[in-house]
Amino acid sequence: MDVSWGTALIAAVVVIALSMIIHRIQHSQPQLNHANFVSAERCAVSIALIEALPESVFFGPHPVFIQSIQSYWAVQERDILPRCIVRPRNAEEVAAAVGILKREYDDCTCQHRVPALFAVRSGGHSPIPGAANIHGGIVIDLQLLNEVVPSEDGSCVVIGTGARWLDVSTILDRKCLAVAGGRNSAVGVGGLTLGGGISFFSPRVGFVCNNILSYEIVLANGTIATASESTNPGLWRALKGGSNNFGIVTRFVARSFPSTDVWSGFLYMTASKAGQVIQAFHSYAQADAGIYDEYAAGPLVCFSYVQKLGIQVIATNLVYTKPEPWPSCWAGFKSIGRLWSTVKVRSLTSATNELAMSSPAGLRQKFITTTVKNDHATLMEIHAAYKEGAQVMRKVRDMVWTLVLQPLSPVMAKKSQPNVLGLDTRTEPLVIVLFTVVWKDVADDELVDRTTRGIIGGIDHYAASKGTADPYRYLNDCDSWQNPFDGYGADNKRFLQEMSRQYDPDGLFQRACVGGFKLDMDNHHA
Ligand SMILES: Cc1cc2nc3c(=O)[nH]c(=O)nc-3n(C[C@H](O)[C@H](O)[C@H](O)COP(=O)(O)OP(=O)(O)OC[C@H]3O[C@@H](n4cnc5c(N)ncnc54)[C@H](O)[C@@H]3O)c2cc1C
Repeated sequence: MDVSWGTALIAAVVVIALSMIIHRIQHSQPQLNHANFVSAERCAVSIALIEALPESVFFGPHPVFIQSIQSYWAVQERDILPRCIVRPRNAEEVAAAVGILKREYDDCTCQHRVPALFAVRSGGHSPIPGAANIHGGIVIDLQLLNEVVPSEDGSCVVIGTGARWLDVSTILDRKCLAVAGGRNSAVGVGGLTLGGGISFFSPRVGFVCNNILSYEIVLANGTIATASESTNPGLWRALKGGSNNFGIVTRFVARSFPSTDVWSGFLYMTASKAGQVIQAFHSYAQADAGIYDEYAAGPLVCFSYVQKLGIQVIATNLVYTKPEPWPSCWAGFKSIGRLWSTVKVRSLTSATNELAMSSPAGLRQKFITTTVKNDHATLMEIHAAYKEGAQVMRKVRDMVWTLVLQPLSPVMAKKSQPNVLGLDTRTEPLVIVLFTVVWKDVADDELVDRTTRGIIGGIDHYAASKGTADPYRYLNDCDSWQNPFDGYGADNKRFLQEMSRQYDPDGLFQRACVGGFKLDMDNHHA
């Protein structure tokens, strides 16, 4: 037995205290202020939308409007109030809405105005304020497009963009099937898949986007198109990492494969084990193609500082996508003394639910990322930067500050279909570095922003000086000021710009669809 009663008690106290803090913060969030709702009458485009889609357009304080706003994951995204929310029930309704928005956009551009008209959302899990919401504009909320339909032969699954990964795994678990999908059951299908997507199955089949056989997409001209290897192949590749720049995806056809229960869970350790954990992580990530175990996912190593308790803990998520306890590849982690462990054989749904429980909705949130080579000294420097961040932000009320390290192997990056991420040229193992911050008060926003930017800047500077930097930035982990498309490489970015000119010649999704990362096309026709 590796847990004494004393340490188990400490672990239990930490977990209970954490859940109490989270519960308290969630229940102290301000409610939507009805006085701030934007009037319907003042906007011609919203009237046109009501006329075309009378059952799918909602204004505040309609319960559907409130539910939609309150289902964003981050509080900063909930604080933004759109003029109205369009909740299409099918792709045809999405197409009708896009047609109306395009006419409004054309009218505005004729008058040399460039309007920020609308935002697109699926699961609403982006932590960036305004990524999938728009103050005073129109939100196309795709949550009703949430079908999950496996094919008869089990080779693929039609997945609506508005589904959560819980919806997907619940249906597929019953059929002993799986797709490359999110590791957190609460996250949305649309944003994750269009930004690349990292799955427990990625070491076996590559990025989530590399496993999408075809997309159904509403283009800027209001038509519904298919993008697959044989139909619109350029668009098909562009959607594998190109996010919301080409249209509104309504459904994905994802490749599925036979699957079983997985072995997964967290190991909780004291902060004093940081050196050993980083060494174990580094050694594992260094494994070359010869000993690469495609069933081993992660590890996701999380170093957290819990401000309220003034403590630091390490939580390492290990997943093996077979029901095989303690595979030999994790021996480095097994030998480190731990407070507590939740690893066990379980369904994929149970594994992804465990991650969802550790990141509840309704709090102030920030993600910020960088990528480095798997160099031990660089990882130690990153850990030192995390500790410095904990010190600088120690007065940020109810803060949980976390550094997450995850390996990105060159083998995984090349699996399955081509994408636009630009990683296929890599030969060395990389590490995706993610910092997350959860906090309570608006008053601390500026300090959190300044500190996290400074820390990422310092790490990038250090890595550049040691030759361990990498330009890739995982789009779905970026902060708003970062530019993931630069990290894809000049050729891929140029390709995305060409696809934008081809499929959206007037630049509707560059200019009128706000939020998310754009393609830097000031002159769309150039
Ligand atoms: C707690 C948590 C856990 C996470 N775990 C993982 C993980 O395991 N693996 C991983 O790879 N990522 C993970 N992420 C990152 C996640 O991929 C992104 O936050 C992603 O944007 C979430 O997708 P969504 O549909 O919920 O987002 P939304 O906030 O709805 O959308 C995000 C962006 O995508 C655009 N978009 C969404 N749907 C469409 C569409 N149908 N057509 C066009 N544009 C669209 C939106 O306009 C927006 O700019 C996690 C994030 C969180 C917060």
